[in-house]
Amino acid sequence: MLFGVSLDGSESHRKFCDSLDLPFPLLADPDGRCARAFGVFADLHGGIAKRSMFVLDEEGVVAYVDESYDLKTDADLEALLAALGPKRAPERDRPDDELFPLAEYRADLATLASDEFEGRGVGTRGERRTVEYLAGKLAEAGFSPANGGSFSQPVPLVSVRKKAPPRLALGEAELRPLDDFVAMSRRQQPRVEAGGELLFAGYGCAAPDQKWDDFKGVDCAGKVLVVLVNDPPLADGRFGGPAMIYYGRWTYKFEEAARRKAAGVLVVHETAPAAYPWEVVRNSWGGEQFDVGRADGGASRCAFEGWITRDAAVAACRAAGRDFDELKAAAARDDFTPTPLGLYAQCVVEQELRPIVSQNVAGILPSADPRRSNEFVLLCAHWDHFGIDPAREGDPIFNGAVDNASGCAGVLALARALGRGPRPARSVVALFVTAEERGLLGSHYYAEHPLVPLESTLAMINLDGMNVWGRTKDLSVVGMGQSSLEELLAEAAAAQGRVLIPDPEPEKGFFYRSDQLNFARKGVPALYVDPGLEFVGKPAGYGEEVRRRYTADHYHKPGDEFDPGWDLAGVIEDLAALHGVVRRVLAGAEWPRWREGSEFRAARPGAAPAR
Ligand SMILES: [Zn+2]
Repeated sequence: MLFGVSLDGSESHRKFCDSLDLPFPLLADPDGRCARAFGVFADLHGGIAKRSMFVLDEEGVVAYVDESYDLKTDADLEALLAALGPKRAPERDRPDDELFPLAEYRADLATLASDEFEGRGVGTRGERRTVEYLAGKLAEAGFSPANGGSFSQPVPLVSVRKKAPPRLALGEAELRPLDDFVAMSRRQQPRVEAGGELLFAGYGCAAPDQKWDDFKGVDCAGKVLVVLVNDPPLADGRFGGPAMIYYGRWTYKFEEAARRKAAGVLVVHETAPAAYPWEVVRNSWGGEQFDVGRADGGASRCAFEGWITRDAAVAACRAAGRDFDELKAAAARDDFTPTPLGLYAQCVVEQELRPIVSQNVAGILPSADPRRSNEFVLLCAHWDHFGIDPAREGDPIFNGAVDNASGCAGVLALARALGRGPRPARSVVALFVTAEERGLLGSHYYAEHPLVPLESTLAMINLDGMNVWGRTKDLSVVGMGQSSLEELLAEAAAAQGRVLIPDPEPEKGFFYRSDQLNFARKGVPALYVDPGLEFVGKPAGYGEEVRRRYTADHYHKPGDEFDPGWDLAGVIEDLAALHGVVRRVLAGAEWPRWREGSEFRAARPGAAPAR
């Protein structure tokens, strides 16, 4: 049985279908055949016209028809089919290993993770080498500079080093820096001293979309807020159930406290809901910090931001004649109201500020279709890692091979595959951002200063940590349920005989912890995948074990090094699946969209319908 599927439902298409007795559904495409056909056709023929129609059978596209064909009879159709060549276009015109030569991927990965790149620290010689390398490879792939004549986008940052350990007193108690608390100030001044009444504000969430408000109109101005990490653990499915959503991230809590003009804000660390031990907080807040350059010098932020240990919070509550666990239990109820602790908190931060200019790297592959050249799919990976820590015994270089030389090599591989293929119907941006490890700063800057309009950036695909441990039967979608990009990925994975699984650790809120967040908050549908769990030819539990070992021994440590023994076949297969998503978006009639219930849906009003 043949079907006519029309992009615009024009009268001439209907007449054509009537003349051949074809059913004429308008994008009625429950199993994605039409989108697949558009993708295949656009790939083979360098784009599709808006007024165009596909004739499909059960297995795929049979013929492409546009206004320039005068098709009135079966014989006309037969002639067109003959002109188009083989009856059915193949799903892929090249096999994976031809599109993604393993040796190229391996060379990029090994080079970026080598000691010569010095751990790709922000503002270092390692940055200069990395930026130069990525720009050169983009040019080789056929991409043009995205920033005027340059592949670089300067990102003004401020390096912040502590001149002395910060001081924090809660009531009578002086807390010990690093052991009991960490604190910094985003006020870009050498000395910040601030204080206020301690106010326990539950989870610090004002979330009308979740029908939740911790603040209940209580004035927070000039107070020092104490808030719990993660989002309220409710049994009714609000706040994503056991999964962490953005309201659970400490970055949100700091932003909300600033909106409420609090003097300071302290997150209470607890290992389970934070998803990492105190050691991680201590390490990441101990050394040099980076912040974006702020036009207001940080005046719109709280004077200080920090974390305290659970023990410090328990002690402060006790001093205030309250019980921490009781307060915490109350904070999980709808009728919670902020509780003043009757203690005064005082914090002093002394810091050395040094402005630096780091770089995002971006290139464009322009579309074949001038009408859609201003519509983009954006591929992203952060290039930075932690550089060199000279104070460290033994190996001082944080090579960041998996995190994120593997993702950079992945974006380069996708860029080359797209550059080698027929010109796409929409444009492609390849973006390598700086300072992800320092708080998603490069992508934040890009989202505020996009090189192509975010309103017509149809999708963002982020690569941060690829699967270097072999082929898998599945692929994990971080933040599953957020956007329609998953459907395209499911299709591409199914063509490989693979399935999608949800993030095995949704409580860690990974969707909110890499660069896709800054695009999602601007409404750009974003996709972020993680390695699968079921490895081909490996025993059950191998995937969990690989993950556990990576987190324990390599993640954010000098041990994240390139291993020549890695089995990169899994990366290639994951890249091929993502390539399938990219091609579908590039050629698709409909724009990707946030799903009903996604907290990012409101940020892209009116962009969902087909254009
Ligand atoms: Zn990373």
